[in-house]
Amino acid sequence: MERLQKVIAQAGVTSRRKAEGLIEEGRVKVNGKVVTELGTKVSDRCKIEVNGIQVEREAPVYFLFYKPTGVISAVEDDKGRKAVTDYFHEIEERVFPVGRLDYDTSGILLLTNDGDFANKLMHPSYHVDKVYVAKVKGLMNKETIQKLERGVQLEDGKTSKARARILSVDKQKEKSIVELTIHEGKNRQVRRMFEALGFPVQKLKRERYGVLELSGMNPGDYRELKPYEVKQLR
Ligand code: URA
Repeated sequence: MERLQKVIAQAGVTSRRKAEGLIEEGRVKVNGKVVTELGTKVSDRCKIEVNGIQVEREAPVYFLFYKPTGVISAVEDDKGRKAVTDYFHEIEERVFPVGRLDYDTSGILLLTNDGDFANKLMHPSYHVDKVYVAKVKGLMNKETIQKLERGVQLEDGKTSKARARILSVDKQKEKSIVELTIHEGKNRQVRRMFEALGFPVQKLKRERYGVLELSGMNPGDYRELKPYEVKQLR
């Protein structure tokens, strides 16, 4: 038995908080009867309707995907570009990406059908190490590394404290490879941080997400998360 608001959020209808609002407003029915009590528990067999539409419930699934470049982090694209879900056609559950990586960024992306889990991970208060490796134009130096670590002023505010280190500098080609660890997920954050300091990003990969890494995987591969991995992320 699970709490009604959790089941609604898990089905990806809305967040748990908003589901509570819908219940209190009398817009949720269980087995044909309006339920306004927030503590209500429901079983797998209960029929749940929100605003008259039946909630489709599936067992939650969680995947780690190695997103290649040239793929959009969405369920479908109106411009006909390849979407991350195109890699999941043989999966019966309707999975969607947790947040996004840019079209040109590769690396770790999680996909799930658990809306509650996705909302939690995407909330600004959720802190997990996200480790990126960026190939940038220019010769990286200590001062810039310190600025990245202290926080960079962007249009939508200053970024939080981060960790950064130089992996290599190619003086001839005037390019550097830098590892940057952040906790936030502002839109195009890593690219904008480097760009703001005069180092345009030419290549970007997310190599780690919390405890998750891509070891043994190639672009386009995916694997199911182990129960303990899901637990650690929650
Ligand atoms: N930061 C970016 O700039 N791009 C991404 O895809 C992810 C983080």
